[in-house]
Amino acid sequence: MQKTTAVDICNVSKSFGSFQAVQNVNLALKEGEFFSLLGPSGCGKSTLLRMIAGFEKPTSGDVEIYGASMKNVEANHRPTNMVFQSYAIFPHLNIAENIAFGLAKLGLSKAQKMAKAGEMLEKVGLAGLGKRAVNELSGGQRQRVALARALVLEPKVLLLDEPMSALDKKLREQMQMELRQLQRAVGITFLMVTHDQHEAMTISDRCGVMFNGKLAQVAEPQELYQKPINKTVANFIGG
Ligand code: ADP
Ligand code: MG
Repeated sequence: MQKTTAVDICNVSKSFGSFQAVQNVNLALKEGEFFSLLGPSGCGKSTLLRMIAGFEKPTSGDVEIYGASMKNVEANHRPTNMVFQSYAIFPHLNIAENIAFGLAKLGLSKAQKMAKAGEMLEKVGLAGLGKRAVNELSGGQRQRVALARALVLEPKVLLLDEPMSALDKKLREQMQMELRQLQRAVGITFLMVTHDQHEAMTISDRCGVMFNGKLAQVAEPQELYQKPINKTVANFIGG
């Protein structure tokens, strides 16, 4: 049976003045898949992600999430949520308050918000730590808080922009496995941007490789290794 399409990127381009940062990208992501977007710095990964998030409008083309165009979605009703490299955690709020922050717009009571935050903390392996101050957390724990905060809003798709690049190598490898497990547990589509090809290959169902604003190849990790579409992709994947 064909899987439902979660994200449909239809001929999307983005120009900044005369510079084309993203050029005619077509890509469909399936429900529940872990997809990584790879490519060298400056190739347009974050710009594409921001358009999928609805933070930025394409110059041409459209992004649909479960069939609904992002053109018509209000900021408060976006079906996606995003995790950044910097985590953007509020230092003056404790862990539970950080996670509950985004729930304000749902009109829940404080008790309801804290209950939801508590459930999420359990899912990301931080059960019982809700009252801790953010500055007591390790890098890996901060990343878990950022993930919990994004997932508590129950997005249909989670977008992650270089979520692990602030972590050292050992912790990164551990977090890769955790991230994959978390994705399986919540069951939604994860779209992760990374410039680390090994990271992408390790945890993804499929990867897309971008160069100069264009999507050069989309394939499963093994196929990318064995059948790179050209020398540029082969060098990037091998390097
Ligand atoms: P990546 O995430 O792959 O490193 P980006 O999507 O951030 O790349 O950027 C792609 C290109 O678009 C870069 O050359 C960058 O300088 C340019 N760019 C990104 N955002 C803007 C902007 N707001 N104005 C002008 N140029 C931009
Ligand atoms: Mg980027």
